[in-house]
Amino acid sequence: MMQRYEPGQRDANVPIPPTAVVAMGGHAFIKPGERGTYEDHLNNAAEISQALMVLIERGYRIVITHGNGPQIGDQMTRNETSSGDIPRLPLDVLVAQTQGSLGYYLQRALLQELHAKNIARFVTTMVTQVMVSPDDPAFENPTKPVGPFMEREAAEKKRDTDGWQITKDLNRGWRRVVPSPKPVKIVQAAMIREAVRSGNIVVAAGGGGIPVAINPDSGLFQGIEAVIDKDLTSGQLASDVDADLLVILTAVDGVYLNYGEDDATMLGAVTMADCRRHIDAGHFPPGSMGPKVEAIYGFLRRGGQRGLITNAESLRDALDGQAGTHFIGRI
Ligand code: ADP
Ligand code: MG
Repeated sequence: MMQRYEPGQRDANVPIPPTAVVAMGGHAFIKPGERGTYEDHLNNAAEISQALMVLIERGYRIVITHGNGPQIGDQMTRNETSSGDIPRLPLDVLVAQTQGSLGYYLQRALLQELHAKNIARFVTTMVTQVMVSPDDPAFENPTKPVGPFMEREAAEKKRDTDGWQITKDLNRGWRRVVPSPKPVKIVQAAMIREAVRSGNIVVAAGGGGIPVAINPDSGLFQGIEAVIDKDLTSGQLASDVDADLLVILTAVDGVYLNYGEDDATMLGAVTMADCRRHIDAGHFPPGSMGPKVEAIYGFLRRGGQRGLITNAESLRDALDGQAGTHFIGRI
């Protein structure tokens, strides 16, 4: 028997299925030591899809978000190495391209898994724009490194000819840095919500979304050369689709106090008050665990009930309460 979702034909006695937003890093598609080939992406998308099946089995409707750091790096290198022959594309278009390609890998792999399990669900990818504010203080202070590492000379040339802002990475060379403004509004939120409410699996807001802002002169959307943190966008999206659960999958099994030190301890269940206290005590650095915990805290503050941070391998146990760090909203 195929399980079927018939939108608009719900039996009043059947409870509404819960919705989960699942966020994962761009490195989920490229493991340590891999180059990020087509095959690497296919293999890792298959693994991700297998791990996500536990949510499907447990009746969740799901929205999947993902990072795109390494893929954007490759796109930027393609831009530079082919710029003599092919016009360069701006960062917003590169983000759109990675949303499409990573969405495609996931669609293909998920449909494969669903088909093997005889589950009739559609999977769709939404090219997602996210509004940022031109007044965001991040534009005064670009912090997000993007693209490949460069020699000092090459970096300075880009700065002088293309107006890039550049920074020196401790010992790996020089890199372009762009602003990382906060997500203000997910432009396609209503459509993502509608698609997931109808029982479809939706891949959305890849790479934190394509940053756009309204041009004050023309009144039209324009693409912005910036990167929005994918965890913060995922938290916003979880609120927008009224998710019951926000899951952030990353490389660690849970969130630690004193991470990296001898007395590191993993957090099991965390209330909003605990969460605030640990954030304020500086346990979660910006650029890695910080935005994940902030994203979940924001989701809970806006009325969300549950957040979870763990790795893909522990997801099943975590859903049973046996692994991962659980964040609990107002009861
Ligand atoms: P992603 O690509 O999934 O966004 P990040 O590298 O940005 O992953 O952030 C996750 C990483 O944050 C973990 O792999 C870990 O190395 C690091 N980290 C920093 N502080 C903590 C902490 N308090 N608890 C757990 N991991 C932490
Ligand atoms: Mg990250």
